[in-house]
Amino acid sequence: MLGGTAEARQLGAALAGDPRYYATISLAGRTREPAAQPLPTRVGGFGGIEGLCRYLRAERVAALIDATHPFAAQMSANAVAAARATGVPLLALHRPPWVATDGDRWTRVGTMAEAVAALGSTRKTVFVTIGRQDVAPLRAAPWHRYILRSVEPPDPADLPPDVRIVTARGPFELADELRLMADGVDILVTKNAGGTATHAKLDAARALGIPVVMIERPHATLDMAVTTVSDALAWLAERGA
Ligand code: NAP
Repeated sequence: MLGGTAEARQLGAALAGDPRYYATISLAGRTREPAAQPLPTRVGGFGGIEGLCRYLRAERVAALIDATHPFAAQMSANAVAAARATGVPLLALHRPPWVATDGDRWTRVGTMAEAVAALGSTRKTVFVTIGRQDVAPLRAAPWHRYILRSVEPPDPADLPPDVRIVTARGPFELADELRLMADGVDILVTKNAGGTATHAKLDAARALGIPVVMIERPHATLDMAVTTVSDALAWLAERGA
């Protein structure tokens, strides 16, 4: 299982006690102190499509589940290519995207550069929750004041000049999000990650009338895709893996 998400940990917990499966979770190794994993874990890139093919063959993998974050587009594309090349059955487990509801003021964009452009030319206080890997484009709009929240701090070389770093790992509560955002935040920039753990910021933005720049997912849903852990378990059981 390609992991790095809450869904991967949940599916891993279900597989851990099941004698029909011998499962391994793979992590990219981005986080210095990753959340505890319920299964044996390997860490680090495979070395592109070829490397993943080698791994699948060497470990005689019977089924591959891509339970990476919906924005881990490179890894998901590599999984598709390696599954085709090796014949290993592949399932994508990606939580559904968030959908705007009444009172939401979303501007949808496709990239981080478009998100920065959508902030405009007048100075704003911008709350940014996109992880630490993609913050460098913020440097193109140094006139804003940024509050940047991520699990671990970004590389200082990527940061705009006027920035406050908040390191925190979800889940986040509505009361805390309201307190943070009511304190002068003009606009929120986030990725359409989906799920419940980090949804409260959207409820807070709606309650406070704060507009949201929503970066939509980089790849279309794959053919063999499910959105819940129980559907992934059913897929595995059907395969008799
Ligand atoms: P990415 O851009 O799609 O992947 C870049 C490279 O990192 C891949 O080609 C692969 O290297 C390696 N990699 C990624 N996920 C891996 C995994 N689970 N196991 C082994 N190698 C992996 O991915 P990313 O955005 O850097 O995300 C890295 C990990 O963090 C993912 O597992 C994802 O679930 C998690 N994550 C990402 C985000 C996000 O917003 N992007 C948020 C939360 C968690 P090789 O080509 O050498 O195999």
